[in-house]
This record gives sequence, structure tokens and C-alpha cells, in this order.
Amino acid sequence: MSEKIFGGDKPANEKKKQNKSSKFSRYSRIPPKRNTAEAQHQRPAKQQRTQRQKQKQHKKVEKKPIRIAFLGGLNEVGKNMTLYEYGESMFLVDCGLAFPDAELPGVDLVLPDFSYVEKNIDKIKGVVVTHGHEDHIGGLAYLLKSVNIPIYSTKLTIGLIQGKLKEHNLLSSAKLNVVKPGDRIKLGEFEVELIHVNHSIPDAVALAVRCEGGTVVQMGDFKIDTTPIDGEPIDLARFAQIGTEGVMCLMSDSTNAERPGYTESESKVGESFDRLFHSAGNRRIIVATFASNIHRVQQIINSAASLGRKVVLSGRSLENVVAVAKELGYIDVPEGLIVSIDTIKRYPDDKLVIITTGSQGEPMSALSRMAFSDHRKVEIGPMDYIIISATPIPGNEKTVGKVVNELMKLGAEVIYEKMYDVHVSGHACQEELKMIMSLVKPKYFIPVHGEQKHLQKHRILAESMGIDRKNIIVADNGLLVEMSDDSVRVAGSVPAGKVYVDGSGVGDVGSIVLRDRKHLSQDGIIIITACVEADTGYIVSGPEVITRGFVYVKESEELIEQAKRLAYNTLDERLGRNPSDILAAKTRVRDDISRFVFEKTRRSPMIVPVIMEV
Ligand SMILES: [Zn+2]
Ligand SMILES: [Zn+2]
Repeated sequence: MSEKIFGGDKPANEKKKQNKSSKFSRYSRIPPKRNTAEAQHQRPAKQQRTQRQKQKQHKKVEKKPIRIAFLGGLNEVGKNMTLYEYGESMFLVDCGLAFPDAELPGVDLVLPDFSYVEKNIDKIKGVVVTHGHEDHIGGLAYLLKSVNIPIYSTKLTIGLIQGKLKEHNLLSSAKLNVVKPGDRIKLGEFEVELIHVNHSIPDAVALAVRCEGGTVVQMGDFKIDTTPIDGEPIDLARFAQIGTEGVMCLMSDSTNAERPGYTESESKVGESFDRLFHSAGNRRIIVATFASNIHRVQQIINSAASLGRKVVLSGRSLENVVAVAKELGYIDVPEGLIVSIDTIKRYPDDKLVIITTGSQGEPMSALSRMAFSDHRKVEIGPMDYIIISATPIPGNEKTVGKVVNELMKLGAEVIYEKMYDVHVSGHACQEELKMIMSLVKPKYFIPVHGEQKHLQKHRILAESMGIDRKNIIVADNGLLVEMSDDSVRVAGSVPAGKVYVDGSGVGDVGSIVLRDRKHLSQDGIIIITACVEADTGYIVSGPEVITRGFVYVKESEELIEQAKRLAYNTLDERLGRNPSDILAAKTRVRDDISRFVFEKTRRSPMIVPVIMEV
């Protein structure tokens, strides 16, 4: 690790800048191009000659195009994964997961397709992770199972990754490297610099990716917060410096590209908490938020402490994240403030704040269980004052609404509306996006991290900033974008489908399994069983008809009887003619029953004939 990473030099002054470029040339195959004429004038003649000879030697080495393959994160919010390629070197940025929607019944998680990575394993030098959110780190454990490449990220992110790898028994074999803003990671012909940004989780970074072909700035998820909770605003000065050095391409966070203005500072939420906690009076306070939003948890803790209330953590992910953040010094908790959920009966309502997961209405989450009176430790009633410190992610509005309704039915007061300022986004709005563009001054622009509408809005913003339409690529998962000094274009495609995780199976649930699941969920199943004599085709027993999710059998005895008779007649007729052709008989039974059931009920259940030869 130590050999591959340069220390956190701030190249603010000239001396360090030269130092830096000499470091770069020492590690790269081709020395950086000298473009200042004065620099050459000042050199002694002999040195100038050797320099010229060197340049001559290197003239043969042509600048290659930079290629970027999108393995996830475009036209979706989730499973971010980007692959950089220059010459014989490749590396990855992030490896996230996505959560399934209603179209994917029974699927637990969705992963990027790793086949392109596996195919190029000899070239891949590592994966750099921008921050610790699931859509950026959630796929790493699965990636490491097939390719054990080094992982580079900041302290907190690595801490959260460790937790994931532990669950998968991968911790001992993983090559984890803690790096910090200002560090430069050498990955083959690439050098990756980390730049501090603000986001809804601490320790997030943007990346300046350099190689002989040029510089690409990848923002990761970010916002511009001048009064952040950890006291470190985004390093705008560094973006400006890099912009001055010349940037070929900018890839930026499109999540909030539709929203005008600026995203509010996280500090604003703290002020709201103070105000709301006071108006809770003598009631118990419950705040739901994202487990990973450590700054938000910190602010809840601060407000609770100022009122002499104890804090209880409810939800496994929340407990895990707070434990990691505490251990690594990212959260400041007064001694004895956090108490176990088992002891809440000992404290009066006005001495408690419960922090819980479930702000998105997730059915298995702590808040949901409280709402549906299914939580073993927390019972909701009129003495509860509940703050939902998050806005529903698009698509979750209904489930969140349901949880709010249930909590209110139990008599609790629920604060969830926008007007209370109990949540701010972690992503940049239009003015912030424009500011980054104006500082970085890229030649090419690729909007990332968003659905099509976000990407297109971000493209329009870039055009309004004077970036030529032909220099903007609205890409898609699976596209390979190639860029050089002259042009940027889509140059091909790579495999980038979705890989489904169901239970312990990865990738064994495909489109056919999903089609069956949907089919079953819509119309149910009819199973027809029969035993036949192998040589004669004589029906020894059955057919029996079993249904699930189709009709209530007791009320449809007549229908089931008719189906049985039909199955018997079909089997008898088919096998009487050709006793050995069981397969044809099965197909025929399926078709006949399917037609019959549709005529009678206008439904198309899945029909499975099971015929045993005895
Ligand atoms: Zn994020
Ligand atoms: Zn993200």
C-alpha cells in the first residue's frame, strides 16, 4: 500500500506542484508533457538536448484514448460502478447494489454484472470507493468473491466495507487500503487523486483521474455545504486548481439536477430538531432517519443531550453504523447518553429519544414494526412525538404514507412534512452543479447517477454553461465511452445486465424464474398428478388436481371435478394410443386444462402436470 500511494500533498504552492509532477513521471511509463516554453529556456543547453532526445524517443508512443465503461448507475439510482481503461491499465470506481422493485418478486438485491471485470482481471488494478452508501459499496462483497482486487477508500468508508466483508467471511483475504483526501493512488497507468466533498455521509470524496490521455473528474455523490457538521466544507479550491490544469471530462451527480437553487446545509436540520424537540413537551421523541446519515444522528444526539434525554438506537443497521462511526471518531457521543433498548421502561417519556431506521417505510424496518404494533420493545401511543427525518425516495411514497397513517391511528403526532425542515438532501441542486462545472471547466461532460430525466436535465444545464452538445454524452449502463483530445463518442458496449440475489443464490434467478414468479403471483398454480403403468399406459391412480392461489377449492368443487375428468380423458386417450410418449401426453394435458380453465374463469394459472410411471 505505502509504495502505491503518495502522501496528502496540497499542491497549493509552486514548489510542491513541481515536486508532484516529478513524482508522477517517476511512476508513469511516459513523462508528463512539458508545455511551458519558459521552462525549457531556463534549462542548460545539454539538458535541453537530452530533453529533446527523450521527446523524440517518446514520439513513437502515441496518446491513447481514455475509455470509460458504465457497469451501473445510469438510468437508475443504484448499483453505481464505473470502469476506467487506458492502454493496458484498468480500475473501477465504486461497486454498489440496487434494491428490487415490484417487478422483481422475491429478489433481495440487484448487483451489477461482473463478467466484463472478470474477463479483464489481469488489467484491473483495484477499485476506488467514493463513499459508504449501499449504492456504492453494497456489491463489493460479491465482487471480491470472484476477483480479489485491492480496495481504496477513506477511513469511514473502509470501516463500513469491513462490516460488509465480515458478514461474507471475506475480511481476512480482502486487500483494504485507507486513503485520505489529497492522496494520490497509483493504479497502473492511472493516478487517482481524492478530493473532499460534502454528502449525507461523512468521508465522501470526488476523484481526479489522471493518465497520459488526460484528466477526468468524477464527482461521486456530493453537495456544497459551507456549514457542514464535521466542519470541513467541500474542497472547492482544489477543483478550481484542477480546472486550471485542464480537465478533459467531468462526470457529475445528477440526482437533484431537476431542482433549482442550492441544497440547504445539514446544520439547518439541527436547528429544526432543537425547535421540534422543545415542542414535543413531555412526550417521548422518536426520530426516523437513514442509518448511514451519521451527521444527522449526531444532531439528534446533540439535541437530545441538551434536553437531558437519553438516546436509544433501534434497528440493526443503525447500531452497526453508529458503532463503526464511534470507533473511528466520526461521531461524538457523551458518556452514558446512549442506553440499551431493553432499558427503555426505566425512563419516563420526557427523558427519551429513540432513533430508528425505516424512514422509507421499509416493511421489515423498526419504524414499520412500531407502526403495525409488531415491535417487541416499543409500543406507540398518544405520548409519542415522531419525526420522519427523510423524504421518500421516488417510489416509496405509498409505503411511507401507510406507516404515517398507522402511527397516527395509534394516537402519535407525526412530523414528516417538508415545512418543518427535518431533512435536507445530500445531493447538489442546479446552482451547485453549475458551480462545479464552472470551476472544473471540462471539455467533455457525462451526467451520471440518475434516471433518464435527471441525466437529460443535467445535460441541459451543461449546455446552458456553454458546453457543446457534441461534447456531452448521455450514456447508459453497458456503454463504453471513448475520449481523446479530438472527440468523445460511444465506442461500443460491454455486458452490464442485472444480477439478482435471492437468499444465498447469486445469479441463479433469471428472467424465466421471474416470469414464473409473476405468473404465480397473478393467477396461481394448478398441479395435476397421475400414476400410469409404464408398458400399457394404464392410469393406476389419479389424476388428482391440486391448486394454490387459483380458486378456493371448497367453493369450486364442480370446476375441479370437471378438470379431473378432462385430464383423465386426455391421458387415457393419448397413452392408449402411445403408452411410451409421456411427454406428449403431459403437453396435451397442460394445453387442454389451460384452455378449459380459461374458458370457465378467464384466468391463466400456471399448469404443471406430474405423471409418474410405475
Ligand atoms: Zn451517496
Ligand atoms: Zn449514490
